[in-house]
Amino acid sequence: MCGVAGFIGSRNDAVSQVISTLVEEQNRGMASSGVVVLTESGAMRRRTRSGSVEELLKRLDLHELPGHAAIGHLRYFTSGDMEDAQPFRGWMEHQQIALAVNGDTVNIRGMPWQQFVSGLQVFRQAQSDTEALLQLVAQTDGNDLVDRLCRAFQEVEGAWSLVALTGDGKLVAMRDPWAFRPLLLCRTPHGYLVASETKSLPLNLESIESVLPGEIVCIDPDLTLKRWTYRAPAQRLYVCSFEWTYFKDPGSPGVYNFRTECGQRLAQEAKESGHAPQNIDGVVPMLDSGRDAANSFAHAMQLPVICGMNRSRLSKDVRAFLGSTTSERQHIVALKHIPNPEAVAGKRVYVLDDSIVRSDTITAAVRLLRSVGVRQVHVVSASPPIKWPCYYGIATPTRDELVASHRTTEAVCQVIGADSLRYLSLDGHRAAYRHLSIPGFLERLEPNLHVCDACMSGDYPPFVPPHHSLSTGEH
Ligand code: SF4
Ligand code: MG
Repeated sequence: MCGVAGFIGSRNDAVSQVISTLVEEQNRGMASSGVVVLTESGAMRRRTRSGSVEELLKRLDLHELPGHAAIGHLRYFTSGDMEDAQPFRGWMEHQQIALAVNGDTVNIRGMPWQQFVSGLQVFRQAQSDTEALLQLVAQTDGNDLVDRLCRAFQEVEGAWSLVALTGDGKLVAMRDPWAFRPLLLCRTPHGYLVASETKSLPLNLESIESVLPGEIVCIDPDLTLKRWTYRAPAQRLYVCSFEWTYFKDPGSPGVYNFRTECGQRLAQEAKESGHAPQNIDGVVPMLDSGRDAANSFAHAMQLPVICGMNRSRLSKDVRAFLGSTTSERQHIVALKHIPNPEAVAGKRVYVLDDSIVRSDTITAAVRLLRSVGVRQVHVVSASPPIKWPCYYGIATPTRDELVASHRTTEAVCQVIGADSLRYLSLDGHRAAYRHLSIPGFLERLEPNLHVCDACMSGDYPPFVPPHHSLSTGEH
C-alpha cells in the first residue's frame, strides 16, 4: 500500500497542495516520500527523501518550486532502496513525464513484469515495477503521452491507481479495471486534487468523486477536465477489503459501519460457539483501527470498553506494518503502545485488534498487558486469519511471514501468548461487506460480489504471479 496525490490549479502552489495531501495520507507509507513539480520554466523538478513527508519537508524550500501542477507519492516498505522512491520521471517524445503509482503490477504483456523488463536490455535505475511501467509507456506508440498511457495499460495486469504529469502540463489520474486501490478526485476553489484517501480532501464530500475502474481523468493546464474509459472495467471488481479493515482512517466513508458490523458479528459468533471465556471484565481496543469493532463487540457482549492500551503521543502516525524487519516492527509496537495498569491490572480482558497479519503487534501487546498485571488476555480479531499473500499492493510477500498461513488457531494463540484467540469467520466478514461504501460506484453494486479478500480466502483475482502456489499446507 502506498499513497498518491496530484494537484493542478490556477495558482503556482501545486507542490504545497500535494505536500499537505501527503501529510494527511501518511498512514499509507513512510519508507519514502517524493514530489515532482512542473515549474513555470517547463522543467520537472523532483525531490525525494527516505522517511516521512516531514523528512521531505525539512529539505524542501517550497518557494524554490513554484508551479501549477505537481504529483507526489508515499512509499511503504517494499524491497529496493532510495532509487525506488517515487514519482519517477522519464523523457518521451521530447517531453518529460512523471509517474507515481499505488498498487503492484503482476504481469506486463502476459509475463511477469520482471521478465518484461529483463528482456528490454535498457538501462534501468530502480527495482520497481513503476519503472517497468514507464518503460512500457516508452515502448508503446500513441498520438501523445496520454494516448500512450491509455494504450500501454491495456497490456498490464495488477493494481494501479496512478497519477501522472506530462511536460505539456497535464495532470492525469488512472485506475485499473479491477479497482483494487482507492483513487479520488476533488474540485477545489483553485483547481483539482487527486488523492488516495478522503480525509486528505476538503470536507465537502459532495465535491469528491471516485476515479472509476478503467477510467482516466485528464486535466489540461486551463483546467478543462476530460474523463473517459480507456479500458473496459472488469465484470467482477476486486476492491481491496483490507483497506476498510485496517488501512483507512476511522473517519473514512463506510469504515465505521463496516468495522461496527464486524465487531457485532464477532460477538454473535463468540456467544453462539458456547465456549466464550467467562467472567470477563471488559474489552481493550487495539488503538484506532480496532476501536469501532471493539465498541460494538463490547456492547453486544454487555461488557465495558476499557482503555487499557494507549498510544504514545510521540508515535502518532507510526504503524507497525511500516517497519521492514520483525525487530523493527516490534520496536515500533513497544514505542507506540503504553499499557495502563490502573485500568487493567488484575482483570480478565478481551483485546480486540482489527486483524492479525505477522502477529508482531498483538504478540507485543499481550506481553505489555501481562507486564502490568493483567490476569487473562483473550484476543479477538475483527477479521478472519490472514493466510495468503497479497500481490496487489500490500507488503506480505510470502506465506511464511503470515502467522496464520500454516497454523491452526490454537497454534497462533500459542505464538502470541494469549489465553484464547478467536477470529471473525470469513462468512461473517463477507456479510459485513454490504456496509462498505465507495462514493460513486460501489454503492451502486453488490459490494460482496466485487470485493477482494484473497488474503483471507485464497480466492484470487484471475492473475497471480507464477511463484504463487495454491497448495495450502494447512493442518
Ligand atoms: Fe486487499 Fe487482501 Fe486483496 Fe491484497 S489480497 S488486495 S490486501 S483484500
Ligand atoms: Mg492493529
